[in-house]
Amino acid sequence: MNLKKLSYYEEFFICAYCAYCVNNNAACPTFLSVRHEIVTGRGKMITARNLAQGLISKDEGLDALTEGLFQCTFCGACDQECIVDIPLTEVYTELKGLVQDRLPESTEKMFQNLDKTHNYMGLDQEDRNLWNFDVEDIYEDWVNKPAEVGYFIGCVASYSGRAAGSPVAILKLVSNANEKISIFSPNEYCCGNPFLLGGNLEKAKDLAKHNVKVIEKLGIKTLFVSCAGCYRVFTKEYPKLLGKELSFKVITHMEYILKLIKEEKLKLLSSTPIKVTYKDPCELGRHCGEYDTARELINVLPGVENLELPDTRENALCCGGGGLVKANYPAIAQDIALKLIQQMEERGTELCLNACPSCLLNIDQFLREQHSSILAIDIAQLVQRLSQNYLNSLINNE
Ligand code: SF4
Ligand code: SF4
Repeated sequence: MNLKKLSYYEEFFICAYCAYCVNNNAACPTFLSVRHEIVTGRGKMITARNLAQGLISKDEGLDALTEGLFQCTFCGACDQECIVDIPLTEVYTELKGLVQDRLPESTEKMFQNLDKTHNYMGLDQEDRNLWNFDVEDIYEDWVNKPAEVGYFIGCVASYSGRAAGSPVAILKLVSNANEKISIFSPNEYCCGNPFLLGGNLEKAKDLAKHNVKVIEKLGIKTLFVSCAGCYRVFTKEYPKLLGKELSFKVITHMEYILKLIKEEKLKLLSSTPIKVTYKDPCELGRHCGEYDTARELINVLPGVENLELPDTRENALCCGGGGLVKANYPAIAQDIALKLIQQMEERGTELCLNACPSCLLNIDQFLREQHSSILAIDIAQLVQRLSQNYLNSLINNE
């Protein structure tokens, strides 16, 4: 193990030990939960430096780093706050490459599943379509057909059941707007995020190559995604992994839906006033700087009031489930989610709007366990319920 070969080696020595990454504007959510220095940006930089200088043994250093790296939700707060601009989350990904022989059990299992089935749950590829109940006709019409616009559904919404409402709502919305898009879910593989979050870039690259090939073959010029992790991976990681820019543009489902509304292809009905809170997903917000589209979309929804939380946008609270933490350390995921739920309860939120199925699943689980009256849904599901065309189709029994 030669740390000097790491591309971010120099960064270990730049760290000023100031702790801005721990508790400046956006605080480290894992540190607030576990109160161990090793999970913070500073803790990991100090440990990597000590390891590089031989001040601690290899085993001691790598064990500590593994704990710090895999208890981290990859929320990006430390990266944003670092006073000397260390690209901390990129450093973490590289450091994870060093600890592949000591991965947490759940991550190891996810990697085996991805190798075998191309999804982290280890489910059959042919079951990737089980989400499409209620929209089978639309699905059959669009699947694997070339189109200018394509939709990458992602593993969580495809397989989890609870998050499947998002792709179902999206297909109904697009169909009601009389648009046609391409979906290719039988040929989708995982975007590669679990491999990236676990530090195996080569395996992520194989998945990237497959997905890009499928998308290009269908002639897709604009791809939209409804998962924050997929968005980060396609926009930031695929060009790096593949060593070239993508031949298609990648946007969020919110941007595509907003476009349909602006073009008056989707009309919206007034509803009883409802108070919502948009949960900024870390991988869309801090990682990709994408904050405004969701708010613009919510602003055009009649009767819908967006209640910003005290910690919002760049300082938004993590849902707790990112960075594979939910799989490896569920108690940490719970602790972090409860802080977010408390802010929503105090603010008077009725609906928690999500743009990431992983956030949705984590928040939903703990809302239920708390017997909260707040309901967590994907933002597309709310738009679909307000869609006049959708109501017309119900009235006409289409
Ligand atoms: S990415 Fe988030 S959880 Fe991980 S060390 Fe940074 S602030 Fe903490
Ligand atoms: S903010 Fe940056 S420089 Fe300061 S302790 Fe954290 S990693 Fe080191």
